[in-house]
Amino acid sequence: MAKLPIITLPDPTLRKVSAPVERVDDELRTLMDDMLETMYAAPGVGLAAIQVGIPRRLLVVDATEEGEEPSPLCLVNPEIVTLGPEMRVHEEGCLSIPDVRVEIERPSTLTVRYVDREGELRELSADGLLATAIQHEINHLDGKLIIDFLSALKRDMVVRKFKKQARSAEAL
Ligand SMILES: [Zn+2]
Repeated sequence: MAKLPIITLPDPTLRKVSAPVERVDDELRTLMDDMLETMYAAPGVGLAAIQVGIPRRLLVVDATEEGEEPSPLCLVNPEIVTLGPEMRVHEEGCLSIPDVRVEIERPSTLTVRYVDREGELRELSADGLLATAIQHEINHLDGKLIIDFLSALKRDMVVRKFKKQARSAEAL
């Protein structure tokens, strides 16, 4: 397994719409393992392939609490089937937008259909943090970020800050 570099704002790759995965093979399973290692090391609750620069519809997630038995999930070509009527507010962070947190209201329950590590079509019902994380990561596959939930003014402020940081990092 290998830890992969995570791309961050303002990298334009983050705005790409990821293409469906055509085949679950050993190469893809290696990518899943590397993404899980990268996510746990960060640490983060979820990671989409686009965040390591690969525009394919694949995400990994583990919403278990610290001290609990880890429960890694790999979702290939995930599609939300149903969203519940109740809403949940969570202050979300993103490994691609370090040190920024955005309070976002999303449906608190969902059902998602996806292809698993073995290439089997599955359906999963999720609630709480797991439901939030799955929606956050699926947003990544469509090029959508947590800053898109902010007002245009606040979003521009965040983007400007990251552009400035990128410029000063280049200058070093
Ligand atoms: Zn994110």
